[in-house]
Amino acid sequence: MKIGFIGLGNMGAPMAANLAKAGHDVTGFDTVARPEGLTHAATAADAARGADVVITMLPNGAILRSVSAEVHPVMKPGAIHLDCSTVDVDSARAVAEAAQAAGLGAMDAPVSGGIGGATAGTLTFMAGGSEQDFDTVKPLFDVMGQKAVLCGPSGNGQAAKICNNMILGVTMIATCEAFALADKLGLDRQAMFDVVSTSSGYSWTMNAYCPAPGVGPKSPADNGYKPGFAAELMLKDLDLSQMAAEGADADTPMGQLAAQIYRQFVEAENGRGMDFSAMLPRFEKRGRG
Ligand code: NAD
Repeated sequence: MKIGFIGLGNMGAPMAANLAKAGHDVTGFDTVARPEGLTHAATAADAARGADVVITMLPNGAILRSVSAEVHPVMKPGAIHLDCSTVDVDSARAVAEAAQAAGLGAMDAPVSGGIGGATAGTLTFMAGGSEQDFDTVKPLFDVMGQKAVLCGPSGNGQAAKICNNMILGVTMIATCEAFALADKLGLDRQAMFDVVSTSSGYSWTMNAYCPAPGVGPKSPADNGYKPGFAAELMLKDLDLSQMAAEGADADTPMGQLAAQIYRQFVEAENGRGMDFSAMLPRFEKRGRG
């Protein structure tokens, strides 16, 4: 396929590289990044013109909206705009509507799996859009990832992503505060892991991504809490979940508190640039007051 790829940052660059490696004709554009091994266009519109699929992998909804307004008018009729960024549900739905009004297909497909998954081609895609568009872009999902789930109409991919990550943020905090309590009660971390990971407190954050160094499978905790999944990205996703909850009048007290705690960690406690599991050393240092 002829692909325009807009947004070649930490995630976009390896995703575009994997598509090119698989034999697709990829033209990239980024306002700053210029990764090697790709053909680069001078503007987003140049990257999009004539493409069968235009993929965007951008920082937020405002940038996605502005790039979409630039590229939709020049895309070829029937081409598909596949947005893999993590953005608010409203922006995803507005961009899909604009694409459809311009005679284009549209799909939101945020990812989980991080930079490692993007590089290895093992991302999970949570897609929102029509079955027809899903079938068309499925071969691209197969190159960039290992799993793609169609979650319903436009915006539902973003909805699935933020609901998942709200659970993730809340359970990471719960796991870390429980470890910090266990420390203070004199419970060995390995014993804590051995019990919880096989009891009703088990979770992905405990079993697969244990925040305690030297305990459980290898995780960012064993690498000085280098991300992994950075605390500021967790905060971004928690904020998106709360924005969506506001709009939908959903009561999400745990998600709200998790957003507040990650905001404090990132903005006032040197959490920026640390893995989101660095919540454990944060709790370790704190008392109740
Ligand atoms: P990034 O900041 O590394 O990359 C974004 C790129 O977009 C940058 O290179 C930037 O120069 C470019 N850009 C900004 N405005 C542009 C414009 N108008 N036109 C063209 N390019 C423009 O971010 P990332 O880590 O690659 O993340 C991309 C998206 O994927 C985000 O929405 C993020 O939330 C999501 N995501 C990231 C991860 C992760 O682990 N990094 C995991 C899952 C999802």
